Amino acid sequence: MPIEYKIYGCQFMCGTRHRKNIKEIQEHEEKCWYNPKNKTCITCSYGKIVSDFCDHPEMEGCPTEYWKYRECHEESNLEMEFKQNSFGQNIIPITDCSKWKSKKGDN
Ligand SMILES: [Zn+2]
Repeated sequence: MPIEYKIYGCQFMCGTRHRKNIKEIQEHEEKCWYNPKNKTCITCSYGKIVSDFCDHPEMEGCPTEYWKYRECHEESNLEMEFKQNSFGQNIIPITDCSKWKSKKGDN
């Protein structure tokens, strides 16, 4: 018979790995970017991810660089520099934002 055991996942479905220890998941949920309580760009109706690219004809083979950044409809340009991150990494959202507005429109 295979062994049966319980694992716990984040209730905000953020994709973090599941854990056997429920306390670890509860601690994660407290600071999870997908928890509306933390008022991040991810759960905000103003938050948006923008994809951009740039050709580099000055380099051999003219490579194209791609990147993504977060934009805020409320505070356009203001925090773009901060939110920009290099390709392939998490794009770090603002947390505890004073301009945060729920996507569901219930705040
Ligand atoms: Zn989470």
